[in-house]
Formats: sequence, C-alpha cells, structure tokens
Amino acid sequence: MPQTACYYPRPTVPSDFHGLFRFDSGDGRPRVLREALPPLTIPCPTTGRQLRVATIEANTSAICPECATLGHGGYVSFDGDLRMAYACPGCRRLVWLPGA
Ligand SMILES: [Zn+2]
Repeated sequence: MPQTACYYPRPTVPSDFHGLFRFDSGDGRPRVLREALPPLTIPCPTTGRQLRVATIEANTSAICPECATLGHGGYVSFDGDLRMAYACPGCRRLVWLPGA
C-alpha cells in the first residue's frame, strides 16, 4: 500500500479569497481590500487550471450574485478567460461569474 503522507505546510490564506483580497471591517463596515502581494494566478474552481490574474479591483460597491447583499467587494478578471470572480464581504469567498 502506498504511503499517502503529504504534509504540505498550510498556505496562510485567512479567507477564501485565494490571497487576492483580504476581509476588513475596521470601521464596522465589512469590505474587501486588495492584498498587498496578490498571487499572479489562482486555480480555476472547475478545472483546477491556473488562471492568470489580469485586473484586481477592490472596495467596489456591488451586489453579490450569491447572497444578493450590497457590499464593498472586489472583482478579479483573468487573461484569456471571460469569467470574473467577485470577492464578497458577506460570503467571504470568491463568487465566480459566468463569462459574457
Ligand atoms: Zn455574497
């Protein structure tokens, strides 16, 4: 039987924003801010393929497609991929939006 010991150190990702954004509620208003050193790629949730990050916009007033809450979230777009992901301060994770 093969050994399946695989003790990678856990990546220090405080929320499920893949290190692109961080959650902040400093003044009582939950919002999402851009991380200082965001990764260049994040994995596609369906294929696991690395998607190259094109633009990151944070602290954007938007309505989350998942929880329908108006919040100050963040958007990330990708090179060569029409999808976008919305970082929701309510869900505290990336919500993937279908491409146009
Ligand atoms: Zn949400």
